[in-house]
Amino acid sequence: MPGKYAVGIDFGGTKVLAGVVEMSSGRLIATSKKKTRNPNDHEDVSRRLTSVVDEALAEAGLTAKALAGIGVGAAGMVNREKGVLLNAVNLGLSEVPLTEPLSQYYGVPAKLGNDVEVATLGEMRFGAGKGCDHFVCIFVGTGIGGGIVVDGKLLRGASGTAGEIGHTVLYPNGRLCGCGAYGCLEAYASRTAIARQVSSEINRGHVSTVQDKIDPSKGILRSKAISQALDMGDPLVTRAVEDAARYMGLGLVSVINFLNPKRIILGGGLVEASQTYLDLASLEASKHCLVIARKKLDIVKAGLGDYAGIVGAAMLLANK
Ligand SMILES: [Zn+2]
Repeated sequence: MPGKYAVGIDFGGTKVLAGVVEMSSGRLIATSKKKTRNPNDHEDVSRRLTSVVDEALAEAGLTAKALAGIGVGAAGMVNREKGVLLNAVNLGLSEVPLTEPLSQYYGVPAKLGNDVEVATLGEMRFGAGKGCDHFVCIFVGTGIGGGIVVDGKLLRGASGTAGEIGHTVLYPNGRLCGCGAYGCLEAYASRTAIARQVSSEINRGHVSTVQDKIDPSKGILRSKAISQALDMGDPLVTRAVEDAARYMGLGLVSVINFLNPKRIILGGGLVEASQTYLDLASLEASKHCLVIARKKLDIVKAGLGDYAGIVGAAMLLANK
């Protein structure tokens, strides 16, 4: 039946995931994955996208005729109207057209949003935001992104950057952030911040179970390695995660006091890896925020896990 399903694509700097999603339930019928590293040019990106969509459709036993369309959530700044990914630093490309090639190839509508926006849409329809019309989603991974839902609608802001909680400033003379500013929340509470803290402790001669799993130059430590280290009681990783969580709690104070949301949904690799992160962030936020603003607020974990991006991207087709 046409329109019963949509394909959602989660387009990241290192990999692209596609999934066939049942529109009415958010159920994932089939998924597929490809690497996005080092594409040659725009055509190469399009070829990788169509091959990952073809695979997902084949696995679902469907053709493009069954689709309401294809939604793409991409990491980075996007032009939603033109369907173009503006800056794709990790890909070494700029102005990458994403929706036009898909739409032509499959003969269905295609829409583009950024990764945090679509993950928020996914949580709103089928995840921890279901039935709540006033909430904030915060995704913690390499960076920190946020989506704001007010009166059941995603808030985009004047130039489309609303929700950039990761770049609110905690310390004006603090750590350098990836955005070029100093002291942003992201430089203190992200997975990258944890990796940097653990690295510097290792460099000072302290021992950690993640010694061989860390890339100190880039500040990379995978969520899985963090989760395993926490299970083993690694003191360096435990302390770094606890510190990051407390900083996140301070970031949440601003969100709570400024927006007075009903719910804050925390998601992303780091939150999936550590319940402590969510618990401590929540505790720290409660200590410092306005008592009245905290009263009607829940702080909960995201409901869709790793698939929020795919399900949410598919929901771009449902949002008229
Ligand atoms: Zn920043």
